[in-house]
Amino acid sequence: MPQVEAILEEAESESLSYAKLNSLVNAIHSTEFQAIRDKVLAKSEFVRRKIYGGLVVSMAPVEVTNRCASDCNFCGWRSDNNEMRRLSLDERLIVVQVEYLSRRVSSTSNLLVAMM
Ligand code: SF4
Repeated sequence: MPQVEAILEEAESESLSYAKLNSLVNAIHSTEFQAIRDKVLAKSEFVRRKIYGGLVVSMAPVEVTNRCASDCNFCGWRSDNNEMRRLSLDERLIVVQVEYLSRRVSSTSNLLVAMM
Protein backbone atom coordinates (compact mmCIF):
# COMPACT_ATOMS: atom_id res chain seq x y z
CA MET A 1 0.00 0.00 0.00
CA PRO A 2 2.86 2.53 0.56
CA GLN A 3 3.77 2.14 -3.12
CA VAL A 4 0.18 2.94 -4.11
CA GLU A 5 0.19 6.02 -1.86
CA ALA A 6 3.39 7.27 -3.54
CA ILE A 7 1.98 6.70 -7.02
CA LEU A 8 -1.24 8.52 -6.16
CA GLU A 9 0.72 11.42 -4.69
CA GLU A 10 2.70 11.67 -7.92
CA ALA A 11 -0.53 11.61 -9.97
CA GLU A 12 -1.50 15.00 -8.52
CA SER A 13 1.27 16.78 -10.40
CA GLU A 14 2.23 14.69 -13.44
CA SER A 15 1.14 11.96 -15.79
CA LEU A 16 1.92 8.49 -14.56
CA SER A 17 4.22 6.15 -16.44
CA TYR A 18 2.77 2.96 -17.88
CA ALA A 19 4.63 0.99 -15.20
CA LYS A 20 2.96 2.96 -12.42
CA LEU A 21 -0.45 2.76 -14.05
CA ASN A 22 0.12 -0.98 -14.35
CA SER A 23 0.88 -1.16 -10.63
CA LEU A 24 -2.50 0.39 -9.90
CA VAL A 25 -4.29 -1.96 -12.31
CA ASN A 26 -2.54 -4.95 -10.73
CA ALA A 27 -3.88 -3.87 -7.33
CA ILE A 28 -7.05 -5.69 -8.40
CA HIS A 29 -5.25 -8.86 -7.24
CA SER A 30 -4.37 -7.38 -3.85
CA THR A 31 -6.14 -8.35 -0.63
CA GLU A 32 -6.33 -4.59 -0.01
CA PHE A 33 -8.09 -4.01 -3.33
CA GLN A 34 -11.22 -2.33 -1.93
CA ALA A 35 -9.23 0.26 0.04
CA ILE A 36 -6.88 0.85 -2.91
CA ARG A 37 -9.83 1.18 -5.28
CA ASP A 38 -11.43 3.82 -3.06
CA LYS A 39 -8.15 5.78 -2.93
CA VAL A 40 -7.66 5.59 -6.71
CA LEU A 41 -11.23 6.77 -7.36
CA ALA A 42 -10.87 9.64 -4.87
CA LYS A 43 -7.56 10.74 -6.43
CA SER A 44 -9.04 10.47 -9.93
CA GLU A 45 -11.91 12.73 -8.89
CA PHE A 46 -9.45 15.21 -7.35
CA VAL A 47 -7.21 15.35 -10.43
CA ARG A 48 -10.17 15.59 -12.82
CA ARG A 49 -11.64 18.53 -10.90
CA LYS A 50 -8.22 20.18 -10.64
CA ILE A 51 -7.78 20.04 -14.42
CA TYR A 52 -11.32 20.43 -15.73
CA GLY A 53 -13.33 21.82 -12.83
CA GLY A 54 -17.00 20.99 -13.36
CA LEU A 55 -16.73 20.80 -17.15
CA VAL A 56 -17.84 17.79 -19.11
CA VAL A 57 -14.96 16.92 -21.44
CA SER A 58 -15.44 14.81 -24.52
CA MET A 59 -12.66 12.71 -25.92
CA ALA A 60 -12.05 11.54 -29.46
CA PRO A 61 -10.23 8.24 -29.29
CA VAL A 62 -8.07 7.28 -32.24
CA GLU A 63 -8.40 3.54 -32.30
CA VAL A 64 -5.36 2.23 -34.14
CA THR A 65 -6.34 -1.43 -34.16
CA ASN A 66 -9.19 -3.81 -33.45
CA ARG A 67 -6.81 -6.53 -32.29
CA CYS A 68 -7.42 -7.32 -28.63
CA ALA A 69 -6.20 -10.02 -26.25
CA SER A 70 -9.30 -9.80 -24.02
CA ASP A 71 -12.66 -11.51 -24.31
CA CYS A 72 -15.31 -9.11 -23.06
CA ASN A 73 -18.57 -10.80 -24.02
CA PHE A 74 -20.34 -7.64 -25.17
CA CYS A 75 -17.57 -6.60 -27.59
CA GLY A 76 -17.13 -7.60 -31.22
CA TRP A 77 -13.38 -7.00 -30.94
CA ARG A 78 -12.94 -9.80 -28.39
CA SER A 79 -10.12 -12.18 -29.26
CA ASP A 80 -12.34 -15.27 -29.62
CA ASN A 81 -14.43 -13.58 -32.33
CA ASN A 82 -12.91 -15.32 -35.34
CA GLU A 83 -15.36 -13.69 -37.74
CA MET A 84 -13.91 -10.21 -37.15
CA ARG A 85 -11.44 -9.04 -39.76
CA ARG A 86 -8.48 -7.58 -37.85
CA LEU A 87 -7.01 -4.26 -38.93
CA SER A 88 -4.27 -1.94 -37.68
CA LEU A 89 -3.61 1.59 -38.86
CA ASP A 90 -0.15 2.58 -40.00
CA GLU A 91 1.35 5.97 -39.06
CA ARG A 92 0.01 7.65 -42.21
CA LEU A 93 -3.57 6.60 -41.47
CA ILE A 94 -3.24 7.62 -37.82
CA VAL A 95 -2.25 11.12 -38.98
CA VAL A 96 -5.23 11.14 -41.37
CA GLN A 97 -7.57 10.28 -38.48
CA VAL A 98 -6.10 12.93 -36.17
CA GLU A 99 -6.35 15.57 -38.91
CA TYR A 100 -9.97 14.59 -39.56
CA LEU A 101 -10.82 14.89 -35.87
CA SER A 102 -9.01 18.25 -35.67
CA ARG A 103 -11.21 19.60 -38.45
CA ARG A 104 -14.37 18.33 -36.71
CA VAL A 105 -13.62 20.05 -33.42
CA SER A 106 -14.69 23.69 -33.17
CA SER A 107 -11.96 26.29 -32.83
CA THR A 108 -13.13 27.10 -29.29
CA SER A 109 -12.71 23.51 -28.10
CA ASN A 110 -9.62 21.61 -27.18
CA LEU A 111 -8.91 18.34 -28.92
CA LEU A 112 -7.89 15.62 -26.54
CA VAL A 113 -6.73 12.64 -28.55
CA ALA A 114 -6.33 9.30 -26.82
CA MET A 115 -4.54 6.48 -28.57
CA MET A 116 -6.44 3.29 -27.85
S1 SF4 B 1 -14.11 -4.17 -24.61
FE1 SF4 B 1 -13.44 -5.17 -26.50
S2 SF4 B 1 -11.63 -4.05 -27.13
FE2 SF4 B 1 -12.00 -3.54 -24.97
S3 SF4 B 1 -10.77 -5.04 -23.82
FE3 SF4 B 1 -12.82 -5.94 -24.05
S4 SF4 B 1 -12.68 -7.20 -25.91
FE4 SF4 B 1 -10.94 -5.81 -25.93
